[in-house]
Amino acid sequence: MIWTRFFRAFARKTRTRKWRSTSRARATAMKRARGAKGSGEFISPICTGCASGKGVSCTPDGGSSAPCAQRVGCLPEVKVYIRCWGARGSIPVSGQEYLKYGGDTACLEIRTAANDTVVIVDAGSGVRPLANQLVEEGRRDYTFLFTHAHWDHILGFPFFKPLYSPRNSIKIYGCPISQGNMQTLLSKTMSAPYFPVPFEEVRASIGYKEYCDKPLVIDGMSVETIPLSHPNMGVGFRFTERDRRFVFLTDNELGFRHPGGRSFEEYARFCEGADLLIHDAEYTLEDYAQRRGWGHSTFEQAMNLALAANVGLVGLYHHNQDRPDAEVDFMVERARNLAEQRGSATSCFGVSQTWSVTL
Ligand SMILES: [Zn+2]
Ligand SMILES: [Zn+2]
Repeated sequence: MIWTRFFRAFARKTRTRKWRSTSRARATAMKRARGAKGSGEFISPICTGCASGKGVSCTPDGGSSAPCAQRVGCLPEVKVYIRCWGARGSIPVSGQEYLKYGGDTACLEIRTAANDTVVIVDAGSGVRPLANQLVEEGRRDYTFLFTHAHWDHILGFPFFKPLYSPRNSIKIYGCPISQGNMQTLLSKTMSAPYFPVPFEEVRASIGYKEYCDKPLVIDGMSVETIPLSHPNMGVGFRFTERDRRFVFLTDNELGFRHPGGRSFEEYARFCEGADLLIHDAEYTLEDYAQRRGWGHSTFEQAMNLALAANVGLVGLYHHNQDRPDAEVDFMVERARNLAEQRGSATSCFGVSQTWSVTL
């Protein structure tokens, strides 16, 4: 038992070392690959040997150990990549006290292992810098998933640059329980007198698709949902690719069951064995005494869920707009102590808007 724990802890430590990769480095690798083979042609980012199938193997730097006509197919193995672009809840903030965790609101970037498809989860203010990077990479296809339509999760949508080019294609998946039809909700963010450019002037081709009841598969990555316990409802996501599992539950109140919400045990089952869980941890116990029923969890509740579900790594997310970096650090420390007291190897960190990981 002790040895099992030791090895689990060691494996996690080893995994954390891989966090250092940045989206820019990855983008450069992908760009190099596209340039080598010509635009528009698919290149698998997975290093499976040269496509000629003549037994030429890849070296760790993505090169080939022998001449091969199709050696551009050889790239280092790339796994699921997740990057946060906004970890703040409710409203964007700025100032010296927010430099570490950032001031942009909810936005995540997920790149599939199979084909480097970019999935964007929520379009808070963090989607603006993400859009800039994707445009720089020369991307034309974009995929959005939304947890719900509260302002902090959609306010960046009108500032998503690819909307305004006819060469771009944008797929938006919406679950009707997230406050209704996503198409209508997003178009309302671009209506007078709240925004000067009407939705009709969007030039990209936009496709809406409703899903919810069965798992969605995006480029080999399975996406399952669970209703959130949150005012006006919403959905949480479980992303699975190969043996890797990531659960994203923001705006989820574990201590209060809102209409449509699930029990703690059901959320624990949904998160069971995840490599990574990012969960709402907006409050301290002291805050929560005043804000029960507002739709958010304490860091203790988030950590309890991670422990109950045997999650490898849990990220505290949706930082309160008035929470300075030092206080988030303190919450992380206390959550880690909780895991230690229970003898658990579950690791904990505070999600910042520049954080990234490869799973
Ligand atoms: Zn929110
Ligand atoms: Zn919300």
